[in-house]
Amino acid sequence: MDKKEDKLKEVISHAKEYGYVFPSSEIYDGLSATYDYGQLGAELKKNIKDYWWAAMVQMNEEIVGLDAAIFMHPQTWKASGHMDAFNDPMIDNKDSKKRYRADVLVEEYIEKYRDKIKKEVKKGRKRFGDDFDEEQFLATNPNVKRNQDKIDKLEAQLTEILEGDDLDALKGMIEELGIACPVSGSKNWTDVRQFNLMFATELGSVAGDASKIYLRPETAQGIFVNFLNVQKTGRMKIPFGIAQIGKAFRNEIVARQFIFRMREFEQMEMQYFVRPGEELKWYEHWKEKRNKWHKALGLGEEFYRDHDHIKLAHYANAASDIEFDFPMGFKELEGIHSRTDFDLKKHEEFSGKKLQFFDPELNKNYTPYVIETSVGLDRMFLAVLSAALKNEKLEDGSERVVLSIPPALAPYKVAVMPLTKKDGLPDKAREIIDDLKFDYNCQYDEKDSIGKRYRRQDAIGTPYHVTVDHQTLEDNTVTIRDRDTMEQERVSINDLHAIIDEKVSMKKLLKMG
Ligand code: ATP
Repeated sequence: MDKKEDKLKEVISHAKEYGYVFPSSEIYDGLSATYDYGQLGAELKKNIKDYWWAAMVQMNEEIVGLDAAIFMHPQTWKASGHMDAFNDPMIDNKDSKKRYRADVLVEEYIEKYRDKIKKEVKKGRKRFGDDFDEEQFLATNPNVKRNQDKIDKLEAQLTEILEGDDLDALKGMIEELGIACPVSGSKNWTDVRQFNLMFATELGSVAGDASKIYLRPETAQGIFVNFLNVQKTGRMKIPFGIAQIGKAFRNEIVARQFIFRMREFEQMEMQYFVRPGEELKWYEHWKEKRNKWHKALGLGEEFYRDHDHIKLAHYANAASDIEFDFPMGFKELEGIHSRTDFDLKKHEEFSGKKLQFFDPELNKNYTPYVIETSVGLDRMFLAVLSAALKNEKLEDGSERVVLSIPPALAPYKVAVMPLTKKDGLPDKAREIIDDLKFDYNCQYDEKDSIGKRYRRQDAIGTPYHVTVDHQTLEDNTVTIRDRDTMEQERVSINDLHAIIDEKVSMKKLLKMG
């Protein structure tokens, strides 16, 4: 098993052990690709939502919120194109009866050549030591070049097949490359078929096509259909935005990698309506702003990279992903898309209602263009958790597990601990909590030795640990320990609020955005 797989396993088991994430309906052996957020997970998730909502709605007077229903009129999905085109190509192995995404099988095959290149680089680094120039090595090493040529050729072939929706050619490619089922090892494949990712259900008591409705596969359409409602009732002027957080559902064929790809997940989306012709300016604006929002968390700039799309969806005129270095490597965390007037025009066409804006400055009506920012809440959660989880070797040779969650997002901001259970120390600790709890989520902890309690708080990511001892009763001071530096300081109880606030306040992050 490689290091990355190890890391993901570590994150999953830590998340379970400390009440962040549980498999859904675990007593019935779980349900694939669905997860439940536990007592700490629910807090972290809520804090991520609050950070996003504050950055969008509270910080921008031209952005307002929305909470649309999950069920929408079925015509919505005809207009948006999801009914016809929200498909993934799937293939079944006849021996194992396992289902795969056909394009992912090919991509994973191509990935093997990337791994070969990585191995060559590792060898090169070992051989040349400090003189190693990776860029030059990649450009000149014959083994690297051979593998890169192969990757380029296969990727070009796959792109052409997917663009042409040529399912037979996709199966042909799988056969030609001799790709075998990872479970059965056999190459006994069915044909490739399109599989629509929307979950359908029935409305009311009448069965049949007439009452078939869908669980929304994205939150964005709830925003588009309410565009005029919000614009008119909120007296919004272009440019303005509508932000929404909510559940979305996709019947993903390959659902794995923990909460990275789930069948029920949550999105935080904002649609920004602009004048036609000004969309690329706003696209750049939001790309920059969203990058800042992520990086203000302080997980480390090296975790992020922009991936600008070269191949664009037919309705987009610019698109970029903010990718994060998850335990499985760099993958999409957020999408920023310039969607033109595609969505509003489609809804005009299907509903027969005008979805236009009268621009008093230009003295004319037009269908606004849209910039979308769309981030997965669960992917944000995984990004934070996986970057924060660290095994540290300490100076005295011991080890500790620490969850360096950005303090503003941490489930508990402070743990208050009486040194012993006697002499009135617990009462004093409770007194401190009774004062702090109006502003912060606090935890009271009196069980086990103080060292063990510190480790427990490190492992759940509490930024500050306050200990009440006998001196506290004499001079009203406590020790405050910092999760990350492990340094302890003696401070007055009266100063606690200000010290904690300085570290955990969201204000600092919002100012950076
Ligand atoms: P991917 O290519 O990884 O399937 P996508 O391009 O289909 O993602 P979008 O439709 O742009 O994703 O959705 C916007 C955001 O929603 C993504 O950036 C991601 O963070 C999140 N998201 C999409 N699908 C899932 C899922 N199955 N589970 C969790 N989050 C998801």
